[in-house]
Amino acid sequence: MILFEFEHENPVLAEDAVARLHEIEAEARFMAGGTDLIPNMRIGIAKPAHVISLTRIPREPMTVGADGWLKIDALTTLSEIEHSALVTEAAPILAASAHTVAGNQIRQRATLGGNLCQETRCLYLNQQHDFQFVEPCYKRGGDCCYPFPRNKKEVCWSVYMSDIAPALMVWDADVTVLGSGGEVRMPVEALFTGDGLRPTTLNPGEMLRYVHMPPVKSHMGWGYHKSTVRGGLEFGIAVMALTLRLEDDLETCAEAKIAIGAVNEGPVKLVDTMSAMIGKKLTKAALAELADMASREINPLPHHGFSKPYLRDNIRVHLRRAMQIALARAQES
Ligand SMILES: Cc1cc2nc3c(=O)[nH]c(=O)nc-3n(C[C@H](O)[C@H](O)[C@H](O)COP(=O)(O)OP(=O)(O)OC[C@H]3O[C@@H](n4cnc5c(N)ncnc54)[C@H](O)[C@@H]3O)c2cc1C
Ligand code: SF4
Repeated sequence: MILFEFEHENPVLAEDAVARLHEIEAEARFMAGGTDLIPNMRIGIAKPAHVISLTRIPREPMTVGADGWLKIDALTTLSEIEHSALVTEAAPILAASAHTVAGNQIRQRATLGGNLCQETRCLYLNQQHDFQFVEPCYKRGGDCCYPFPRNKKEVCWSVYMSDIAPALMVWDADVTVLGSGGEVRMPVEALFTGDGLRPTTLNPGEMLRYVHMPPVKSHMGWGYHKSTVRGGLEFGIAVMALTLRLEDDLETCAEAKIAIGAVNEGPVKLVDTMSAMIGKKLTKAALAELADMASREINPLPHHGFSKPYLRDNIRVHLRRAMQIALARAQES
């Protein structure tokens, strides 16, 4: 697992980092905290000849604008986010989801941008290849898929594991991407391809610059749950995030967003369950029915030893609990 040789650059301006990545013709990658990229380089999933480090680019402080939106530099560490009073107040689901990523030491280095741009995972991919296989799989440029042998070459069912992406989706967050033509702002959902071979829509040389979180609405509540085996320092079995808004009666659902992560090639919004929630009185029985519907709407990929029926059960149980918490928060707000 010795790291191969590569060129390393440390620009101090985001624009220079983007320009350098465009100039370099060999494979080049940005590196923020390096907590995803470096392990992937060690096991040969990423083989950049140039690494453009983003660590010297000054991080802008988090701010709430006159429009009430929270703006966060993508280079902000997850540790800073989880402990920020501003984030906890303005977008508590972001602080909660950042807190669940890996362990404290990793969160001290890992950044928000790196979390969203992380590589997908698969039990057969995240291994030192020389030991494990005689032939690389499709995602490593080879000619087979170990867990899904009937898949064609252009199909990879590796799983996108960001704990934060589903939280941003249900909060209706935006992101700003910096490319050679300048900055473009778009809904966070536009960042995800749902393709295991290439999980984000970013082109080489495009940098995730900011995340924007809209203000909390009245009678709004949120729920978040990451299922894990040990409860810490590990990737999710499944991640559930939701927001809901109540009518003035504090019982009827006016708006609902549900996103599930860590079980597909990208985070997935449960559009049928979301529309079934709207206009419904959210009694205990209704929430149980809706969570059941959600567990049938999601089509999880079996991953890391967890079967599809197990993942569905896990989502049904924990999503119902997260819905109850969201409801209570909305009624208190
Ligand atoms: C032991 C361990 C446990 C982990 N557990 C979890 C977990 O539970 N949940 C989870 O979500 N993740 C987990 N991770 C993965 C990783 O640590 C986090 O996703 C982290 O947030 C990645 O951020 P980073 O800044 O270190 O990214 P980096 O490793 O620096 O970059 C990751 C990828 O994003 C690209 N990139 C980075 N910043 C930008 C940017 N601003 N614009 C465009 N591209 C960019 C890089 O080129 C690279 O391809 C774990 C990692 C380890 C080693
Ligand atoms: S699912 Fe993707 S990463 Fe996993 S073995 Fe198949 S091609 Fe490789």
